Amino acid sequence: MIPLLSKNSLVLLESFSFTRTLYAFDFDGTLAKIVTKPENAFMTKTTESLLEELSTLAPVAIVSGRSINDLKKRVHFNPQFLVGNHGLEGLGNNNASLTKAQAVCSQWVQKLKKMKFESGVEIEEKTYSLALHYRQARNKTNAKKQLLQSIAELTPEARVITGKSVYNLLPPGTLHKGAAMLHLIEKSSAKHAFYIGDDDTDEDIFSVEYSAGQLMTVRVGQKKTSHAKFYIDRQAEINRLLKILIGFHKKKANG
Ligand SMILES: [Mg+2]
Repeated sequence: MIPLLSKNSLVLLESFSFTRTLYAFDFDGTLAKIVTKPENAFMTKTTESLLEELSTLAPVAIVSGRSINDLKKRVHFNPQFLVGNHGLEGLGNNNASLTKAQAVCSQWVQKLKKMKFESGVEIEEKTYSLALHYRQARNKTNAKKQLLQSIAELTPEARVITGKSVYNLLPPGTLHKGAAMLHLIEKSSAKHAFYIGDDDTDEDIFSVEYSAGQLMTVRVGQKKTSHAKFYIDRQAEINRLLKILIGFHKKKANG
């Protein structure tokens, strides 16, 4: 992986500001610091105002596993795109597929609620997908084992995306973040796209097949097995990155 905040990478990043570029961001662990309780995750005021400023200069998308309703509580301006539930919400998905996803999720929840888990395991219902959290489980190894066993018993079979102390369950046949990203590029008529995320769910986007050099993929934190091409060291660098992007676009507008 290549450090994004290095001289050569920044030259490439600046070239993105010469054309219409979509800047897409994951939420948790990227725009917002990871916290013990997911409900307490927010962007800092600085991050939010920088992101809002960027959205006046170029199309901005937030792509998250959270539901749109949940995201709206955490984002106090209107970015061009808000995509929730790993791509299922916010891209004009038809009602029939959403209704179907909802039915599958409630079926799963009914079954999961009858099962026994380590204390601290939480089932988060996100209408069109589920998140099974074990961050607060006393015995994480046991919790993981129990969760994986019960997930295997679900019908229809769930699409499982592993996250940080969480298993995300998506109804079969639904969009994932990678497909959502391709939709967004098309919808925003972007020539280039930039995506930054920190988690396994983002690998769907990092490994998307797209013309080389047109999609810049960035991971928060270096990881050998990641498909992202670039990285920043930690979430705290997001403000620096946003300032750089704003600077490039302002320079282009003035030049
Ligand atoms: Mg994340």
